[in-house]
Amino acid sequence: MPSVPFAVPKKPLKFKPVWRAPKTLITVWPPPDAAKPYDIIDSDNWQSVAVRHGFFDPWDIIIFNFRTDVPEEVNWYMHQLLGCTESNDGKNFSFRGAERGRLFIPPADWIPDREFRRGSFSYRLLRQSVLRDLDAIIPVLKALRYRGFTVEPQDYRDLQTAIRDGRVTVKLVTDLKDSGGHALNGLYTSKKNLLRLRSYMPGRRSDKETLVHELTHAVYDLHAHPEILFHHEMMCRVMEGVYRFSRRRFSQEMLATRLIEAARKGEAAHAAAFMSYVIWTWHHDDPVIDIDALDATYYNPAIMADDNPYIRMWTRLANSPAYQQPSYWEYLEPDGI
Ligand SMILES: [Zn+2]
Repeated sequence: MPSVPFAVPKKPLKFKPVWRAPKTLITVWPPPDAAKPYDIIDSDNWQSVAVRHGFFDPWDIIIFNFRTDVPEEVNWYMHQLLGCTESNDGKNFSFRGAERGRLFIPPADWIPDREFRRGSFSYRLLRQSVLRDLDAIIPVLKALRYRGFTVEPQDYRDLQTAIRDGRVTVKLVTDLKDSGGHALNGLYTSKKNLLRLRSYMPGRRSDKETLVHELTHAVYDLHAHPEILFHHEMMCRVMEGVYRFSRRRFSQEMLATRLIEAARKGEAAHAAAFMSYVIWTWHHDDPVIDIDALDATYYNPAIMADDNPYIRMWTRLANSPAYQQPSYWEYLEPDGI
């Protein structure tokens, strides 16, 4: 087993570091996984080293080197492995005058083999999954026009690029709530260009539906297109439904009957499913599906005249208490990406 060259630096300490010896010491140094060495200079700190090597979270570098995210243990390793003896704040070591100031830079896609509370690993994994899944999602989306504004599959390509370049951030927040304390599956915040998701499990279809929904809010933000909340929401629900129906094999008559039934007495979600079904079934080949054309004049022999999908959906959304909350505005006011 390779040994780790721990050593107390020659220079005595002039301050009392906040530190403690790690419970489990690292057993390999330099860290494996094709690390690149970097010799620190006096003016460096973890942040500057991270930025210099294209990492935006300094903990990525710290965890790669020391396999810990406990600040007290980081101080111990800095002293014992890098020979740090000085401090800027009287608690933590700085790199100035380090006797053996060589640390190691992880490969850009390195992920630790266990979970840490700090570092950007889960963020980077999530972002990679979202970027990859969008390649499969975008081709099944449709161009939808509503109130004169068309949301097109290309808009989701542009958002994919924005996520890739970091102009839109995707974050996992497992206890996601709105400002009224209600649990949410996803939330897009226009001001911060931030998409928060409650979960994103590989292969879980409902998580991808939430992604489509929230990215549709982001399309309005992308174009800084002002729109009233119900109408945003209408488009988001319909696009989510278009995606949902893209994989489902269904018997048309049975599903139509069931969905009409549900939309009559049900909530906005049922009305949205009904609407998406109508779009998917009878309008799927239209190059642009015009939601306004499904308004009062909508007639299809397969559904009853009083079951206009547009009216059902609109009334459900407009009467839903969730969308009467002014607090939604602070998230969704489109201001550009
Ligand atoms: Zn929404």
